[in-house]
Amino acid sequence: MSRKLNFNAGPGALPDEVLQQAANAVIDYNNSGLSILEISHRGNAFAAIIEESKQLVRELCELGDDYEVLWLHGGGRLQFCMVPMNFLGDDDIAGYIDTDHWSHAAIEYAQYYGNVQVLASSKENNYNRLPLWPEKIAVDLSYVHFTSNNTIYGTQWHSVPECNVPLVADMSSDIFCSRRDYKHCDMFYAAAQKNAGAAGVTLVVIRKDMLERGRRKLPSMLDYKAQAKENSVLNTSPVFAIYTSLLMLRWTKNRGIDAIEKENKLKADLLYKEVERNSLFNLYVEKKEDRSLMNVCFTAIDPGTEKSFLKFCDDRNITGVKGHRSIGGFRVSLYNAVTVRATKALAEAMKEFEQSKDN
Ligand SMILES: *Cc1c(COP(=O)(O)O)cnc(C)c1O
Repeated sequence: MSRKLNFNAGPGALPDEVLQQAANAVIDYNNSGLSILEISHRGNAFAAIIEESKQLVRELCELGDDYEVLWLHGGGRLQFCMVPMNFLGDDDIAGYIDTDHWSHAAIEYAQYYGNVQVLASSKENNYNRLPLWPEKIAVDLSYVHFTSNNTIYGTQWHSVPECNVPLVADMSSDIFCSRRDYKHCDMFYAAAQKNAGAAGVTLVVIRKDMLERGRRKLPSMLDYKAQAKENSVLNTSPVFAIYTSLLMLRWTKNRGIDAIEKENKLKADLLYKEVERNSLFNLYVEKKEDRSLMNVCFTAIDPGTEKSFLKFCDDRNITGVKGHRSIGGFRVSLYNAVTVRATKALAEAMKEFEQSKDN
């Protein structure tokens, strides 16, 4: 089987060895005579999976037992609802940083439950940069929510700021991409399908004292405290998706966050340099310090070449470089599992494409 060079935005690329281990477990989980698809979410085997995954998340994020680790359903988007449902009372105000389609959706959902104050926004610039982080944050805000990596436009907050009210981060597209101060967050979440596994499960990491700040009575499925009490097995857990996340966590630990960060910087540097050099393309995000390590967005200077470049890539086994429908152009996602080799092959293809236009 020949594998494509996969730059998809999400679900994104997974390492070959993780796919192989997941495939083996589908046939027979740990010589148990059962498939991972057949084991009980209440049995010992799955309890061990949950336990190891929680330990690894804490270790990779350099957090202690004061944080709870949950595996929930409903994707990143359900967190856009659950955060305000739990922590934003009818008359409360939450602060949101508006940097992308995703943070904008989080704002819309929060408005169902309480009041939103947009503390900073780059919407007027079509999100092609980050706004300044707000200097003063009112102490009576219930929390501040931000999106650490803006998957569609390709900007990223490279560090996690300290905040005087509870800080909540959507890290769906850049969790584990570099070493940073996760402990500055009171809560962060990540839909697994980008850097943390397969679609179908969302990782939620939350300070235990934050669990006590619930503002309403909720059905247990939507209540973080109830989910924590049941250790992510309140109902039938997405066993296979959580197991795939565990495989990704082991892989991430084996490589080490520092090595991953170094390689992510190398890959991003390679590609940004090529887009800047190449006479056919324009980068979407101008300011260097705002550029994402994970999603490199660019456009064709002559929109007429867009289709032919996609075809050119396709002929070279390169897939997933088409931009999001809301901004068009191209988006190359360089998640942790994307190799330097694949990134070089893409940069090379961009060069060759340029040469083919010269002749
Ligand atoms: C992909 C993504 C989401 C959406 O996740 P779903 O699992 O599709 O709901 C949310 N936020 C960010 C930043 C994303 O990149």
